[in-house]
Amino acid sequence: MILVYSPHPRGDSTSHVLPPYMSCVIRRNNVAVIKSNKDTRYGLDSIVTHDGVKLPCWALPNLSSFKQKFGLDAYDQLDVIGIDEAQFFEDLYDFCCEAADHDGKKVIVAGLDGDYLRRSFGSVLDIIPLADSVTKLTSRCEVCGKRACFTLRKTEEMQTEVIGGADVYMPVCRQHYVSGQVAIKTARLVLESQVQRGSCAEP
Ligand SMILES: [Zn+2]
Repeated sequence: MILVYSPHPRGDSTSHVLPPYMSCVIRRNNVAVIKSNKDTRYGLDSIVTHDGVKLPCWALPNLSSFKQKFGLDAYDQLDVIGIDEAQFFEDLYDFCCEAADHDGKKVIVAGLDGDYLRRSFGSVLDIIPLADSVTKLTSRCEVCGKRACFTLRKTEEMQTEVIGGADVYMPVCRQHYVSGQVAIKTARLVLESQVQRGSCAEP
């Protein structure tokens, strides 16, 4: 089992599930890809790998329904199961155990390790002990260009699950994550005090 996790939501329709070096896997094996049906930005029936291979994709609310929906005979023929957006699946741990340990599938999991406040997101970190290999992807800080391990949310929503790409999230280094959080907090306080003052001034 391979786990690839990243602090950044995808900014495009490219899948993290099958990194470039895995394209040989796609050509030689019987592959199925599952992603969450929560993200409807790119259509639900396919994902695109880094090297442009389009794969059919099952958009599901949970993983436990996959076997039945895919068909038991077809499931038996599968070599590789890719799981994208793994942070949205509550039954990730149990599914990975069963698929990798009991059913002998090669399972490749991609997802976010943390949310925009750097709290553990879903069950992605829980499956590290199940994995043969674990990789944390990083990108470049949008402010200074250094290695970016964190994500700053540019919008005001407070809930953990806000689905979006570069319009909502930006990759940042540690320094700019911390200064960005301070700036966002300060901006909110200023806005709130203006609203309060505005409402007091009304007759
Ligand atoms: Zn930076």
